Amino acid sequence: MHSIFATFCQKKQNVAHLGNSKINFCITLDFRYILSKETECSSSWQFKNKFLHYARFSLHLQSERNFKEMKFTPEKYNLPDIPMTPFIDAEEIAAFLAGPKPERQEVEAVIAKSLSKQRLNLQDTATLINADDPESVSIIKQAARELKEAVYGNRIVLFAPLYVGNYCMNNCAYCGFRTKNKDAVRITLSRQQLIQEVEALEDEGQKRLILVFGEYKQYTPQFIADTVRTVYNVKKAAGEIRRVNINAAPLDIEGFRMVKEAGIGTYQIFQETYHPDMYQLYHPSGPKKDYNNRLTSLDRAQEAGLDDVGIGALFGLYDWRFEAMAMVRHTNHLEACYNVGPHTISFPRLQAASNIALDKKYEVSDADFARMVAILRLAVPYTGLICTAREKAEVRREVLQYGVSQIDGGTKLEIGAYAEQNKTAQDLKREQFHVSDSRSLERVIDDLLDDEYLPSFCTACYRKGRTGEHFMEFSVPGFIKRFCTPNAVFTLAEYLEDYASEAQKQKGYQLIEKQLQELEEPLIAQIRTTLECIKRGERDLYL
Ligand code: SAM
Ligand code: SF4
Repeated sequence: MHSIFATFCQKKQNVAHLGNSKINFCITLDFRYILSKETECSSSWQFKNKFLHYARFSLHLQSERNFKEMKFTPEKYNLPDIPMTPFIDAEEIAAFLAGPKPERQEVEAVIAKSLSKQRLNLQDTATLINADDPESVSIIKQAARELKEAVYGNRIVLFAPLYVGNYCMNNCAYCGFRTKNKDAVRITLSRQQLIQEVEALEDEGQKRLILVFGEYKQYTPQFIADTVRTVYNVKKAAGEIRRVNINAAPLDIEGFRMVKEAGIGTYQIFQETYHPDMYQLYHPSGPKKDYNNRLTSLDRAQEAGLDDVGIGALFGLYDWRFEAMAMVRHTNHLEACYNVGPHTISFPRLQAASNIALDKKYEVSDADFARMVAILRLAVPYTGLICTAREKAEVRREVLQYGVSQIDGGTKLEIGAYAEQNKTAQDLKREQFHVSDSRSLERVIDDLLDDEYLPSFCTACYRKGRTGEHFMEFSVPGFIKRFCTPNAVFTLAEYLEDYASEAQKQKGYQLIEKQLQELEEPLIAQIRTTLECIKRGERDLYL
């Protein structure tokens, strides 16, 4: 205990003299060290008092530093936002939701705040959630549409999920992979199978993948990192994977560091339900049983320098209103502690899975789902929203209007299914849950073009080191026109040249032409020159 204190006093002095943010970071880490040691080495009153003083001092310095460089204006809530420390107070969230039904002017004021590109706080979000009369819902959806068009334009980023292994030690009550489901067909792709899957995905024109894993002793950070490297090395004909994201179990800081070094984009971890009591019901055993470990997992990613993280909740496990509020609360936490918001927010709805019979009490209707997407768009205007093929094509088409910016296409969830010839019906025993939108990537792209969305496989920001890209798209005037639209056009042109039918090629270039009319010279000329290069066979050109 004495030596811990000696270090602490020394550090404190250094900070007082230098006021340097690196040392401040170091002192914060020490504070956590002391926090973890406190229970095992000290019950002394004096230690605790000094410890608390130290903690306050450290936090004060941190908030001062953050204030100077802060991109965000997070709010203070019942549980202070301290790195690596749980932050959800379920009663506080419930109290916001229990507020009175808002007047029209209040709803309009919140919408105006969002349209002026400010993130909404919990009170604002509750106002939108509680405004459930048809007229309010309609103005909320209209505002979400406006925000999406103004901020993101008409690009839609495409990706595909690739399930690598479905062995799992957990018992999540909603998942076909849970350990107690004896009917599940368990597979971990061999290196050769993995390569075949990636080749099949490249043959379709995919450029961005999310690798998905169960939680299992074999799926170590090293295994995940090796898998990522293998995927990047698969190059078939014109195909290559340029961005690999991950959805897997929470790791420790060292594990996140190892996976980051393999060159991943986003690490997604869904809290499933943010309600602590409900969480216990759905997660009776296995490492995932630990609510706080999962809640703070993306803090550990940040500590490891992995600042591109995706949050999400599984809708249907508890009241959607609570989960939407909690995701805003999680956003506040990441902003307050790390000066970075979530890169993406996901809102999967519960689907049928092998041997699952869940109560439908919290089922979210299509109408509420669309309303929720509009509210999330307004609540966190700078973050990408993902809607996966769990949803039917019509539902996805509707929520694209309200701000969804990323979708998967050509999705197959059965492990090893991309490389299978003549695959027909889905087999629930081989997949985590039922896929409702089984359109091919080609068909998804065709439908997007029909609706005048610009399909994009862009990976430029991440590869150019423009991290926090969604924040830049959102906050830097002209960023979308200068970077996102040209890069979307280039990646679409590559797709049209390498994978599309003649009819689709014509349709795609027509949309590109229309898109160019909305830009200005000399950018239009630059884009045309690059398009000529792509037509001549050059690839991977981006700004
Ligand atoms: N095993 C890792 C974990 O649990 O974090 C990876 C995630 S799992 C393979 C991907 C996500 O699918 C889960 O986080 C959960 O939200 C979602 N999911 C599980 N069962 C589902 C179901 N029946 N319907 C829809 N989504 C489901
Ligand atoms: Fe395992 Fe993830 Fe499914 Fe839970 S959701 S059973 S952890 S694969």
